[in-house]
Amino acid sequence: MPSYVIIGEGAAGISALEAIRSLDADGQVTIICDEAAGYYSRPGLAYYITGEITEDCLYPFEKVDFNRLKVNFINGRVKSILPAEHRLELDNGNSMAYNRLLIAVGAQALKAKVPGAELEGVVKLDNLEDANRIMKIARKRHTAIIVGGGITALELVEGFRARGVRVHYFLRGDRYWSNVLDETESRIVEKRLKEEGVRIHYQTELGEILGKHGRVSGVLTTTGEHIPCDIVGVAIGIQPRKGIGESAGLKTGRGILVDEYLRTSEEDVFAAGDVAEVYDPTVGKAILDSLWTPARRQGYTAGLNMAGKKVPYYKGVPFNVTRLAGLTTTIIGALGGREEDADVVGIVRGDSEGWRQMPDALVAQANFDINRMRLQVGERNLLGAVLMGDQTLSRAIHRLVVDKVDITPIREKILNPNGSVVDAIGDFWTALASTSER
Ligand SMILES: Cc1cc2nc3c(=O)[nH]c(=O)nc-3n(C[C@H](O)[C@H](O)[C@H](O)COP(=O)(O)OP(=O)(O)OC[C@H]3O[C@@H](n4cnc5c(N)ncnc54)[C@H](O)[C@@H]3O)c2cc1C
Repeated sequence: MPSYVIIGEGAAGISALEAIRSLDADGQVTIICDEAAGYYSRPGLAYYITGEITEDCLYPFEKVDFNRLKVNFINGRVKSILPAEHRLELDNGNSMAYNRLLIAVGAQALKAKVPGAELEGVVKLDNLEDANRIMKIARKRHTAIIVGGGITALELVEGFRARGVRVHYFLRGDRYWSNVLDETESRIVEKRLKEEGVRIHYQTELGEILGKHGRVSGVLTTTGEHIPCDIVGVAIGIQPRKGIGESAGLKTGRGILVDEYLRTSEEDVFAAGDVAEVYDPTVGKAILDSLWTPARRQGYTAGLNMAGKKVPYYKGVPFNVTRLAGLTTTIIGALGGREEDADVVGIVRGDSEGWRQMPDALVAQANFDINRMRLQVGERNLLGAVLMGDQTLSRAIHRLVVDKVDITPIREKILNPNGSVVDAIGDFWTALASTSER
């Protein structure tokens, strides 16, 4: 009877378990994870720290689901993998054999490389423990400085604002999330943050975190400005936890390198989720994602292959629905975002390098009040989109992009600066839906 071991009980690890069980009812499956909380929604942490949901809402599974999947859990930390011996070692000195192994250990927040980064009161948002720490310190302290870009920086800003903490937001660049959003979208977010009372400091870089009795007491910017504060939140990017693969002799790049079957350079060792740098044959290079759905899909594909199938991972169109300064925002496909964003090192949470791919497209846009729609219009189909605020057409646009629907009949209308993009897409989608119903 084969034995499978999965390191990490996140989206990728649990999906792999489901896939293995779909093919192998009796094989022994063990999941080892260093987080006692086990499987929970990491994107949900944003709503947990604002107080909109309680902790129990974070857990997608109940005990019966785990019973059905017949899995042995170990709460512990894997220290090393010995592929030649098909064995791994835990921190506590225990050792375990495997036939097939999945590394699904995720990624971790990068630390700010400035003096004072280890002081008490410097926070990040990687996991439930961090979220609980954030809520605890927000009760007693008054002023936070947040540095970084992308979704997590904003989640820290909004989490502290929701708890009555004064917030200064430092941007090294001149606008928010400049490698995904265009200037209009960045400005919409910034305006709303300012209306919420957030003080944004543009072209401002953290130079040093100052402390008193081991606790944060203020910061110095690189230009020498001193701002008193008692919390510093850091969200400058993430780093796949590739070290465990490196020390096992696996091939690594920015993450653990895997082929399209999610197999590492060792025959019986697979990797999936935020830790994996996955080869994409359609673009001919390896790509990082930090998104829940790709982590689940990668984990599932890896699980099938661990249980004996040969199924390639199909990357699909990168997609995220998130909330930026209170505005629901859907981000889909290739957006031609800049490679560089001064506020971010590499990739952030809820981000995809796929969004940075430059489509051969023209841009169509519609703005009304706080709502905005931006479309990347290719020769015959839509290649990417950002929808902010009103989401009425988000499902339609997602399907048009994913299914590569021929939009020739409305292409001119969409690109006409005097026409209504919204009506053109809405009417086209309604007509399409009624044809497919017939
Ligand atoms: C605050 C936040 C907001 C996010 N927002 C979005 C969003 O809006 N949209 C979106 O699509 N995605 C979002 N994400 C990203 C998404 O949650 C991740 O892409 C996804 O959870 C990755 O799953 P994973 O299974 O690869 O890793 P994880 O879920 O990180 O699971 C890995 C687990 O392995 C454990 N582990 C690590 N090393 C070891 C070891 N040596 N031994 C044992 N266990 C170990 C870790 O502690 C962790 O529990 C967000 C993430 C965060 C934190």
